[in-house]
This record gives sequence, C-alpha cells and structure tokens, in this order.
Amino acid sequence: MPEHKELENIIGSVEQVAHKLGLSPDETEQLKQVTQIHPMRISPYYLSLINWNDPDDPIRKMAVPSREELNLDGFYDTSGEAENTKMPGLQHKYAETALILSTNRCAVYCRHCFRKRLVGLPTEEIVKRFEDAAEYIENHTEINNVLVSGGDPLVLSNEVIETFLELLTKINHLSFIRFGSRTPVTLPSRFSDPELLALFKKYSQMDKRLYVVTQFNHPKEITPQSISAVSKILNAGVLMSNQTVLLKGVNDNPETLATLMDKLVSIGVAPYYVFQCRPVKRVKSHFQVPICEGVRIVEKAKANCNGHSKRFKYAMSHRTGKVEILGIMNGEIYFKYHEAKDRENLGLMFKRRVDEKAGWLDDFSTEG
Ligand code: SF4
Repeated sequence: MPEHKELENIIGSVEQVAHKLGLSPDETEQLKQVTQIHPMRISPYYLSLINWNDPDDPIRKMAVPSREELNLDGFYDTSGEAENTKMPGLQHKYAETALILSTNRCAVYCRHCFRKRLVGLPTEEIVKRFEDAAEYIENHTEINNVLVSGGDPLVLSNEVIETFLELLTKINHLSFIRFGSRTPVTLPSRFSDPELLALFKKYSQMDKRLYVVTQFNHPKEITPQSISAVSKILNAGVLMSNQTVLLKGVNDNPETLATLMDKLVSIGVAPYYVFQCRPVKRVKSHFQVPICEGVRIVEKAKANCNGHSKRFKYAMSHRTGKVEILGIMNGEIYFKYHEAKDRENLGLMFKRRVDEKAGWLDDFSTEG
C-alpha cells in the first residue's frame, strides 16, 4: 500500500481490533479507557505483521493496547528530559549532542514508548520555531551532532524535513545529523517516496553524513518491505544503526536477540544499543525485564553472535547519564558511564550488590 494510503487507513480505535482480539464488551471498554489516556495508532502494514492466532505475538504486544497499561507504577520523565530542556523541543544533556523533539506523531504509537507522555497527545514539549533551535546549536560550538527525534520526525512532510536539513547542514561544527525514526520498521512505504530519498542524497554529504537510527525489536519486523526500506535509505547515502529495547514477552530471550542482531547486520543496520526498558508509568510493569536477568539474556545472546552482531552496548538512559551495564561477578553488578551529564563521571565504573528484582539503577542499594 502506498504511504499516503497507509496513513489514510491507519488503525486508531480499539473497536477496529476488538473482534480480532476476541474482546468482550467489558474488555473493549477497559482498552478504550487506556486509549483515552494514551492513543492507539497502528499502520496497516504493521498490523498485517500480527499473527492473531498467537496471544503472545510480539508485534501485537508492541502495538495493541493492553489492560496492563492501567498499572501506574513508574513515572513519565525517567531520564530527566525536563531538566535538560533549553527551550521547547530542544534538549542539551551531553555536551556534544543536541536533541530536538520535532513532532508528537508517529506511524505507530508503540505501547512501550518512553515518551508516552507526549506521543499522540497535546504537548508543549515540541519544538516551536526550528530556527531558534538551530541558532542555539550554532551558538554552542561544543555540539558536534544533532539527534532529531520526537515522536517520529520522518512522518513529517518532506518540506519540513528539508527545512531541518537546510538549517542544520549549514552549521560548520556539526559532523553528523541523526534522525531517530521507527518508520523503516512501522511504515516502510515511506521510503518509496522518491522526493524523500532525493533529500537524503542531497544532504547526506561525504564529510557530514545523515544517519537514521531506528528501532527493530524483533526478527519478525525484518520483512521484505523493511529490508527494501533499509536498502533505499542506504542507497541514498544515509547510514543506519539500531537501538533495540529489551522488552518482556517480546525479545527477552537469547535466541530472539541473537537472531535479531545477526539479521540486522545482514541487512546493513549496525546494532548500536540494547536499551534497558525505562520505568515509565503504564510501561514498566508491562515490559521491563529485571536488569540482572537482562545481563544473562544479553550475554547468552552475545555468545551466539559474531563480532559484528555483538557490537552493541547493553545500557540504560539514566537521569545522570548513559550507563553501560557491564556484567555480574561475585554477587556484584558492574556499570560504567558511557555518557554522563556531569562530565567528571565519564568513563567512571561502579558496582552495586546484585538485586534480582531491580529494573533501574535507582532500585539497587548503594550500601556495601
Ligand atoms: S515510534 Fe518511537 S517515539 Fe513513536 S511511539 Fe514508537 S518508540 Fe515512541
């Protein structure tokens, strides 16, 4: 289905899937309650990947609302995004990186999204004048790269994307620009648009590359359509990397993770991070795997991967920085600051006593 048709036929209400889920009227009502708080949106393509006969289907878990989202354990801003916001839609946490929240829309509203507080919802957190964000970046010469995120920036019009690129590629001290986008996974038809590909070709310069950082979470998402989307992006001179989120019931087993990483390498997408699922309200109880269990899963997966497939780091985006989860030894779990809000912490290693229930750094006891 062409992209514009996909967007016209987007699935946005529980009633549209209630019969496939075999929901009773009461259950339908409960899910409607969920979607009143966090809207539902699934592209026809992504919906078509669901095997409705399998109650544990991973695509279904990531896309279809669940009653587990009524669980309020957790909080909404888990990485201190508010405290790093310099103007609406622009965050500056790590010296060399600026983050722009370009939109609150996506092709699919992933049920595990860590920006659940804003996707598909009215928000003041989105960039208002991109020119102002570009000016901030221009004035901060320590910034050498920009991540344009959201929501999903590649659901925006080509015209808007070109404005972003025009302004950012003019800034001399930027060495690369990234789009954080799940469209290769959830709306691959977006890359059948020759105008978008021409934009990529024009602005991905040999010495200032564009990157699409995407989020494949399960091998089922690697389909002829998504492979073709990746191939078109790469052919346009844009590089690709992947950030998987470790998700309970989706990819929390070594075989699935190893297969995913191998397949990503084979289609030309570099495995970049496996992220610990954040303790987000309406997400945590549903999707978060305890960290110690995560370590074991990741290590077993790595044992089955070649060097290229296991380049990724298992990390968590904590308020204090990007913390790599290194491993467990003698009853202790070891961490290292890969990125740090406070530069003095960069590279710092530290340990905590193993706690099998801990899902986030703050859950570990700091006492000896
Ligand atoms: S596409 Fe990205 S921003 Fe949008 S809902 Fe999914 S994870 Fe969140």
